[in-house]
Amino acid sequence: MIWDEIDKELAALKEQGLLRQRRVLASPCGVLELVLDSVTNAATPLLAFCSNDYLGLAADPLLVDAARDAAGRWGVGSGSSHLVSGHLAPHEQLEQRLAAFIGCDRTLYFSTGYMANIGVVPALVGRGDAVFADRLNHASLIDAAQLSRADHHRYPHTDLVTLERQLASSNAKRKLILTDAVFSMDGDLAPLPQLLELAERFDAWLVVDDAHGFGVLGPNGRGSLAHFGIALDAYPRLLYIGTLGKAAGVSGAFVAGTVSVIEWLMQRARTYIFTTASSPIVVATLLKSLELIEQGDTRRAHLQTLIRCLQEGLASTQWQLLASPTAIQPIIIGDNHAALACSAALLECGIRVAAIRPPTVPKGTARLRITLSAAHSIEQVERLITALKQIESHSGAQ
Ligand code: PMP
Repeated sequence: MIWDEIDKELAALKEQGLLRQRRVLASPCGVLELVLDSVTNAATPLLAFCSNDYLGLAADPLLVDAARDAAGRWGVGSGSSHLVSGHLAPHEQLEQRLAAFIGCDRTLYFSTGYMANIGVVPALVGRGDAVFADRLNHASLIDAAQLSRADHHRYPHTDLVTLERQLASSNAKRKLILTDAVFSMDGDLAPLPQLLELAERFDAWLVVDDAHGFGVLGPNGRGSLAHFGIALDAYPRLLYIGTLGKAAGVSGAFVAGTVSVIEWLMQRARTYIFTTASSPIVVATLLKSLELIEQGDTRRAHLQTLIRCLQEGLASTQWQLLASPTAIQPIIIGDNHAALACSAALLECGIRVAAIRPPTVPKGTARLRITLSAAHSIEQVERLITALKQIESHSGAQ
């Protein structure tokens, strides 16, 4: 039967330690989670280092109030796509507010980061064009390049020499360089100034996905470009994509650029045009979230303290963190089953850290992906360090 194959494939995933499981939370997003047992339904309290809620805003009371007010004022649904009748005043306001915050002419709001990415790239390049992409880019960027039907050249992680060679030898009509700003599973930063220089030199678009930098990096949390001192409005070939389900604590994403490129995306990005506009609750809440991000220096400073605390606490152990300056602090384990075993050992200590395996990361680089949030306390990070030290002796960490 046609479905027999699926059962075999599922069994094979399990065998390889690649079967993914969801855990049901009986609590809002936060560093303290109540996780339901799939059999008994009993709730276990866990200290979590898994979410991308880097500033601890996802359940912030001010945002909850903003959501409640928005529901009262705007209802819960937009009723249609943006270009038909679903573009409400809060959507418009958010786009304008984001443009002012980022420092560009115009922005376009998408329902998710995934939708933004797979909408933007095929709107800019197509058959006969070429995309040049970092090998460790997020899945949504890989899919975006493939959907575009442009030739897809992948360069080794942050390898500018190879990228330059690829650009120089390409005779594609249009070129586009595509990169995560903060790599989602490694936590390191793309060399954005150098990528921009190459984009300028080879007349290529540079599309930067700052899912993990927006809200966290740069002055007032303006993101990775601001972190490097790059003024978006000075570079018409530069497009910035920020997601709003991570540090901003809600959901959605925006693309920032010049008036004409944003107008073009509104006319051509299929994931913008052919989908229902997000709930007005979401966008109105994001307006409040932007305020908190802008005033979030204390949260960002605390996050930096936690990062240092974790790095120092693990420095003389066998748990070698990747060299990451951001809230994403991975420990490479290698083998899938070993990574799962480490994650399970931490669970025994009441701590949840996700074991990230292929295809999210390259084969043989399964890892514990520790993510820190401004909502963690120093004591909680110390608890994680102590637990890792406890399980050190019977782990396969490299
Ligand atoms: N880009 C990157 C780098 C990401 O890590 C993610 C989410 N993990 C996305 C895009 C997708 O964003 P969203 O979750 O809003 O769809």
